[in-house]
Amino acid sequence: MRAVIMHGPGDVRVEDVPTPELVEPTDAIIRVDAACICGSDLWPYRGISPVKRPSRMGHEYIGVVEQVGSEVRDIRVGDFVVGSFMASDNTCEICRAGYQSRCIHVVGMGSIGTQAEYARIPWADGTLVKVTGDITPERRRSLLAASDVLGTGWFAAVAAEAGPGKTVAVVGDGAVGLLGVLAASQLGAERIIAMSRHADRQALARRFG
Ligand SMILES: [Zn+2]
Repeated sequence: MRAVIMHGPGDVRVEDVPTPELVEPTDAIIRVDAACICGSDLWPYRGISPVKRPSRMGHEYIGVVEQVGSEVRDIRVGDFVVGSFMASDNTCEICRAGYQSRCIHVVGMGSIGTQAEYARIPWADGTLVKVTGDITPERRRSLLAASDVLGTGWFAAVAAEAGPGKTVAVVGDGAVGLLGVLAASQLGAERIIAMSRHADRQALARRFG
């Protein structure tokens, strides 16, 4: 299959690599429908963080399940799924406390690389969320944002105790900040202040609440 590999700052290539196979009985293999570029992909691209060796890229993804391991119970072949950027069992003490990104079995999906035709998803039942209904192009874009930036913005809004009667300030108008605005709005915050220097992002912030 083809996959995106970063060789160094500014040097990103699409190359042929082995197609992933099931390794653990809790794994799934998905055909990646869409993946996107995270702001954190840009740090090594711009040379801000080091690239020590050629590395697979991508940790935000949606796709269709092609295979599941023998211990996968909730996710089925053919399911359309959104996956988290951090694979987690969703059953351990840390997951149950709401910190799935620090699961005792966590696997950062960036180490696997989802900017590829296929991806192996560890802890499929804990990591993947099945989506039902029509997958329109517009919905596809929204679902892709749920893979990382929505969860991160939502977590921040919950941690800040955004809710009815509260005023919330969101510092920064990147994808996570904008979805922090959306999350605070959904959680019922009375007033949301977005700090932004970009007119187009300010328009989105207003739309999101
Ligand atoms: Zn866990």
